[in-house]
Amino acid sequence: MKVYAPDFFRDFRCIGSDCKDNCCRMGWDIEIDDDTYNYYKSLDSGMCRHISDEDGEHYIMQQNGQCPFLNENGLCSVLLEYGEEHISEICTEHPRFYHWFGGYKEAGTGLCCEESARLWLSNGGKISFTDWETDEPDDDLEFDPEALAAVIKARNVIIDLLQSSEFSLSQKLRLLLIFGLNTQDIAEIGTAQGFSELAEAFSDMDNVKDLLSQLESESSLQDKLDACRQVLCCFESLEYMKEAFPKALGEIKNDLEDIISSADAFDKAFPEAQNGLLSVAVYNVYRYFIECAEGAECLPFAVTSILNVWFVRLWCISLWLGGKFSLETQINAVKEYSKEVEYSDNTAELWERAYTDSALCAENIKAIAEV
Ligand code: SF4
Repeated sequence: MKVYAPDFFRDFRCIGSDCKDNCCRMGWDIEIDDDTYNYYKSLDSGMCRHISDEDGEHYIMQQNGQCPFLNENGLCSVLLEYGEEHISEICTEHPRFYHWFGGYKEAGTGLCCEESARLWLSNGGKISFTDWETDEPDDDLEFDPEALAAVIKARNVIIDLLQSSEFSLSQKLRLLLIFGLNTQDIAEIGTAQGFSELAEAFSDMDNVKDLLSQLESESSLQDKLDACRQVLCCFESLEYMKEAFPKALGEIKNDLEDIISSADAFDKAFPEAQNGLLSVAVYNVYRYFIECAEGAECLPFAVTSILNVWFVRLWCISLWLGGKFSLETQINAVKEYSKEVEYSDNTAELWERAYTDSALCAENIKAIAEV
């Protein structure tokens, strides 16, 4: 099996009790694979009273908002007592993610974990990818190799554009929107042909500049404010697990005019903050665009990628205005967004709303990309 991943993938290590926001305290019910469940049952240790059993699926039920097996030092008591081989597969793998295509696998680490977010954001805005061979057997789910090759090619072209020094952050986000809008006809011509054509079109720099010039007219401050307000209202209608994210959302909404007017000053004061935002864009494109090879539509992924960068950018400027901006607080904002929006039902909701909610129309997404 050939594995492809960001080159820091194999450096990821859970920092355990040093983690400020342990994933075992996020309130998620944690799925237990059958082998692990059967092992716990065989122990007759009472562990199974914390595990639900519905239609053959098993979940560790949270107690007071955290995993019942977390000890007072923030460590996993199951791992300490029975060894790593006896914790659930999800616990072993989190926050890693994978996509399998026969003898090819893509891997990465999710931004919902602060250590993973640190790795993504500590690369000076340039994420490199690497591959290696493993002895893992091929996956046997069917897929279209031509569609996969075309999607990977187009996705990598977009990642290169996001990482090029040719364009500003705002231009890159607009390119992402143009790419997403251009994928809307793909259902008619087929994934392989559609993404091959897009890969070619977005590899031609003159063509890219031409495409960009079609969306180049700058929105007025009022248009940006109106678009941001509408999109923030869309975010307010979602559900969140903890206080931090809605609190930030409220502060951003209250100070929106100040935040938008201060964007240029923030960029001058902290030019390196844009590197972190670009890494967030690359993460989204790398992780989600590959699903188009399995028939998923690309536009919602493009829209949610832009939303992610935009929201974290507003949050960073808000932190800066309050004298609290640093790489650490940026990492925290990226992680909180991922936890509350990406790793929740809110993502599917936003994908759906990319087509149905006027707040997420192309004009608004263009305007927020310019902030
Ligand atoms: S969030 Fe990441 S670093 Fe923290 S406990 Fe979970 S896996 Fe470990």
